[in-house]
Amino acid sequence: MAGDYYEILGVARDASPDEIKSAFRNLARKFHPDVNTDDPDAEEKFKSIGEAYAVLSDPNKRREFDQFGRVSDLPPDMGDFGGIGEIFEMFFGAGSARRRGPQVIHGNDLQVDVTVDLAEVVTGAKRTLSFDRHELCADCKGSGAKAGTSPKTCPDCGGSGVVVQLTNTFMGQIRRTMPCPKCGGEGQFVEIPCDKCSGAKVTLNRVKVEANIPPGVDNGTVLHMPGQGDDGINGGRPGDLYIPVSVKADPRFVRDKHGLITHAAISYPKAAMGSTLSLEGIDGTFQLVVPPGTQSGHEFRVRGQGVPPVGGGERGDLRVRLNVTVPRELSEYQKQLLDSLEKTFDGDAPQQAGDDKGFFGDFLKSVKK
Ligand SMILES: [Zn+2]
Ligand SMILES: [Zn+2]
Repeated sequence: MAGDYYEILGVARDASPDEIKSAFRNLARKFHPDVNTDDPDAEEKFKSIGEAYAVLSDPNKRREFDQFGRVSDLPPDMGDFGGIGEIFEMFFGAGSARRRGPQVIHGNDLQVDVTVDLAEVVTGAKRTLSFDRHELCADCKGSGAKAGTSPKTCPDCGGSGVVVQLTNTFMGQIRRTMPCPKCGGEGQFVEIPCDKCSGAKVTLNRVKVEANIPPGVDNGTVLHMPGQGDDGINGGRPGDLYIPVSVKADPRFVRDKHGLITHAAISYPKAAMGSTLSLEGIDGTFQLVVPPGTQSGHEFRVRGQGVPPVGGGERGDLRVRLNVTVPRELSEYQKQLLDSLEKTFDGDAPQQAGDDKGFFGDFLKSVKK
């Protein structure tokens, strides 16, 4: 993973395939290690340019990168110089690629899923992640050779990993480099393999990594811990750790980005006379003042009782939708009371939809919202 591929190629996010191709062509010429022998960073730059091109020139990978800011797998060998060399050959013809010394293999990215509950979205959370990771062998320090021995330099290629082949043609002598057949391009070989890793250079270990889950995460958030993936081999960089986050559903709340929505019930008399309700927020209880005459379906907005955005900032609001409950069963005494109450309303004509006053009017307004 080498950062923002668009920045690396210096193109806009909506650049056309031709623009991407031409940006790659210019940069690849400029940073090719064969013409930058005194710039030690040229090879790294060249690799990231090739990686960026490999991703952005492939419509599927480009879409994946646009969506997630990364791609799950690079094309085979794209992490090492040989793979980039092949792309370069496609553009500028064979003979440009070269291999030097042991093949650098970068570590794989790893993924561990975590789940948090809604309250932890407000506070942030810590998790100890336990997972298996390939790490450089502790006994041989990644050389693959038995303790006390070390890999021998290949006699055929002198450790360069490449052999030069000269061919005479009518156009003159062509000089071609190929990976050394004896050492497979490694430049060195192990006589007695390490006991612990059997020469694999890495071992699979169970590790524990502390992960900080920041406030504001949502389903689909993927946290990124650079360098916490598998170790690289022969000096390759380690992979990264990706942590997709799931937020456990809370039956009391519906999440709407940074806002939360909840429902509260109030009796008909309390709604008519006004009342103060004690309600559960995501991090503690709060008081909601319901003014006299509040209608069923009314929505209150409680500032700052939602969840924060990722990266910090003001918490969103909690919207409380009020439901005025009508009793399903009444005692005789309650019937008498309601009957007496109803008689005091004589003169209020029945209302129908279309009326902009009274219950239906409020109902229509709430529907229109
Ligand atoms: Zn070992
Ligand atoms: Zn060799």
